Amino acid sequence: ESLDKGLEKTKESFFTKLGKAVAGKSKVDDDVLDELEEVLITSDVGVDTTIKIIQRIEERVARDKYLGVEELDKILKEEIAGLLSENNVQDLKDFTLPDVKKPYVIMVVGVNGVGKTTTIGKLSAQYKNAGYNVVLGAADTFRAAAVDQIKLWGERVGVPVIAKGMNTDPSAVAFEAVEYGVKNNADVVIIDTAGRLHNKVNLMNELTKIKRVMQKFVPEAPHDVMLVLDGSTGQNAMIQAREFTKATEVTSMAITKLDGTAKGGVVIGISEEFKIPVKYIGVGEKVDDLQVFNKAEFVDSLFN
Ligand code: GDP
Repeated sequence: ESLDKGLEKTKESFFTKLGKAVAGKSKVDDDVLDELEEVLITSDVGVDTTIKIIQRIEERVARDKYLGVEELDKILKEEIAGLLSENNVQDLKDFTLPDVKKPYVIMVVGVNGVGKTTTIGKLSAQYKNAGYNVVLGAADTFRAAAVDQIKLWGERVGVPVIAKGMNTDPSAVAFEAVEYGVKNNADVVIIDTAGRLHNKVNLMNELTKIKRVMQKFVPEAPHDVMLVLDGSTGQNAMIQAREFTKATEVTSMAITKLDGTAKGGVVIGISEEFKIPVKYIGVGEKVDDLQVFNKAEFVDSLFN
């Protein structure tokens, strides 16, 4: 399975550290819990989430009196799954669009280089395969490369891309893309945006303006504001999530580049801290390397 392959490094690193942490121990005691805390933190689960997980295990130790280290895997798995279930309101099964009046509009945000364009390309392929008409809007007009890249994905996948010249007002592109989508009976319009975090007020104003113009055609738009984060940056992804959730109302997340990184634990920390559903995870550069995030499958892949 590609999820197992995508999480290979995270898994390997986690269990190597965990193995060292419990080496020579027979029961879960304060020492083991201290070590476990370090393992979780260095696996990018995040400090707050780690503390919660440790507390849950402490409660179990107190209740059951004795816990053998050989049970630690199973207990960790249960506690992480429990934590994700409490917080992740949504568990997608596939790439089916919600049942709303067409078109469903997704605005994609995130800083440059995190895999926004790639995720949009992959997502449009999945939607197209599911039988939907897709339109892309190249509203990241600050970088010529960004526009070229989304056009390339459009050609590859076979979906129209609405693009204008460099430095055009991004909201003008969003306006045209949504207009085109309405006129052509599209099922979904996906808008790429520029992710400049260095000026928060600008970012906020720009995103607000993009939203406002699209609402001229589709009052409910955007139905989804998806934040793309690069999982391989670990705690940096967490920081970006804090910044973006302050700048705009983020309604879903996609976490990319989980293949080739040992920092996959960041998905757990992000779901727990933000309580915003992680809808997709990226596990490679190819068109098929986007997966619907399912917490049970994710935890299973980490532990099995
Ligand atoms: P953007 O600037 O946010 O639009 O980022 P891009 O979509 O251009 O992606 C930046 C780089 O990351 C490209 O080389 C992509 O191929 C790569 N990339 C994107 N998603 C993934 C992923 O899930 N796994 C891997 N390994 N690479 C990815």
